[in-house]
Amino acid sequence: MSLQMIQQYFPGYPAHMHAQILQLHTQDKLGDYIRQRYPQAHMIQSDKALYDFCNEFKQRYLKNAPLLDKVYFDNRLTVERQTLGLNTAISRVQGGKLKAKKEIRISAFFKGTPTEFLTMIVVHELAHLKERDHDKAFYQLCQHMEPNYMQYEFDCRVHLLWLALNKAQPDAIT
Ligand SMILES: [Zn+2]
Repeated sequence: MSLQMIQQYFPGYPAHMHAQILQLHTQDKLGDYIRQRYPQAHMIQSDKALYDFCNEFKQRYLKNAPLLDKVYFDNRLTVERQTLGLNTAISRVQGGKLKAKKEIRISAFFKGTPTEFLTMIVVHELAHLKERDHDKAFYQLCQHMEPNYMQYEFDCRVHLLWLALNKAQPDAIT
């Protein structure tokens, strides 16, 4: 694994964190790092369950934000395309009025992750209902909804990197 690959998965993170990842990889401990911290898978597999999960956070923390029209898993969102979540406001004319339909799409990748990573991406997309850019206010809102947000985001990147590395390696025993 190259340092360039680490930088790709951890853009904007300080060099000492890049070094930490490289060390874990060298010791072959990336997989253990995730398994030990996040042993729990979640049961949210349907779009209906995802909507409810998302809406609970929204009702608790963003009561005044517009109603979510649709929340669903999308298997077109991938790491390769650099998008794991999307939020859109589609404007449609309805009864002579322009109405924005709020949609949140979550990569289907999150069906198979620990609960914490699904929480992280849901909180991230919800925060975009109020804050457009990835600035200080945005991350403060994320942490308001999930105090461990920053850790979960970092660890989710570790998880993604580990998956990418393992996909690239041929099976040792066939
Ligand atoms: Zn974002």
